Amino acid sequence: MSLPEPQPGIMEIALYVGGQSALAGHQDVLKLSSNENPLGPPPSAMEAVRDAAAQMHLYPATDHSDLRGAIADTWGLDADRLICGVGSDEVLQFVTQAYAGPGDEIIHTEHGFSMYTILTHMAGATPVKVPEVDRVVDVDAILAAVTDRTRVVLLTNPGNPTGTMLPEAELTRLADGLPERIILVLDCAYLEYVSDHDGGLSLAKSRPNVLMTRTFSKIYGLGGLRIGWGYGPREMIDVMNRIRQPFNLSGVQLAAATAAVRDQKWRDDCARLNRTERDRLTGALRQLGIACDDAHGNFVLARFADADEAGSADEALRAQGIIVRRVAGYGFPEGLRITVGDREQMGRVITALTDWRGV
Ligand SMILES: *Cc1c(COP(=O)(O)O)cnc(C)c1O
Repeated sequence: MSLPEPQPGIMEIALYVGGQSALAGHQDVLKLSSNENPLGPPPSAMEAVRDAAAQMHLYPATDHSDLRGAIADTWGLDADRLICGVGSDEVLQFVTQAYAGPGDEIIHTEHGFSMYTILTHMAGATPVKVPEVDRVVDVDAILAAVTDRTRVVLLTNPGNPTGTMLPEAELTRLADGLPERIILVLDCAYLEYVSDHDGGLSLAKSRPNVLMTRTFSKIYGLGGLRIGWGYGPREMIDVMNRIRQPFNLSGVQLAAATAAVRDQKWRDDCARLNRTERDRLTGALRQLGIACDDAHGNFVLARFADADEAGSADEALRAQGIIVRRVAGYGFPEGLRITVGDREQMGRVITALTDWRGV
């Protein structure tokens, strides 16, 4: 007798592990493990959700035209070249599923997002991991890893958990070096925190094989609602729309995201707070002898002497009710990824680490 067999690749998937949110014995837990917005969701989005709640008996729009229009207005894009998904994770799933299958390869970099291997196996394709140099994406190593079977390159910029950023000239060099049959995906979940860098948007606008993905989960404070978008060539958007479920986003999701993306003051305020507190955290860590690169997102990767020291610092933070992210699974046993919070929250972290150091 033979039992039902899953599709190739599915049993290779290790379940995604999210950031921890509870800590036994602590009421006022400070969760800095999932890069969530310390200011919560924008009031403009909450109001839009209250209004949308009265329409929950109606099926939502299938074409997302209001949301695509709002995104296009905000970022100067062509609404016809936008696709919206259940988080940017779903947009990444559209591209991997539509363009890769068994026998194909999908390239990701050494410290790339853990969803990339999951999505690659979901498509039945083979993940190919390429090394980085000092926590920065290595364009030459990516180009050297390309084979006849390569279909997609998945790149995070700024990186997570590294927080480093690949300069525009390097992104262009990568796009120039890839054959046009290979899709370059620029996962820019943290781009709204970055000043003076377009993250490769000009490439997504002009190249036949570049897709940018963005999210409402980070600066817009809507991680719990699950909304993201992608921007790329019209042909690619048409392909992906064929495998998108017609009602993938609810009316509540669409209303919240449409209000949030138009809320420029919110975006500016959050980016400003993040810059100030990120600088403060970075400076304090370095003063305590804890290494970290200049960070470009809403988190800092603190690098300790070794895994034991990182574990000890993690325990000291937990004793104060603070949860940060262990990133051994991302290749940093000596690292802790700390989400940038507000002034009071960063004060708590700095005090806890200062006490732990005993200085
Ligand atoms: C947070 C994050 C996302 C966002 O995922 P959503 O599905 O939109 O919540 C995407 N990529 C990276 C690298 C991230 O860190």
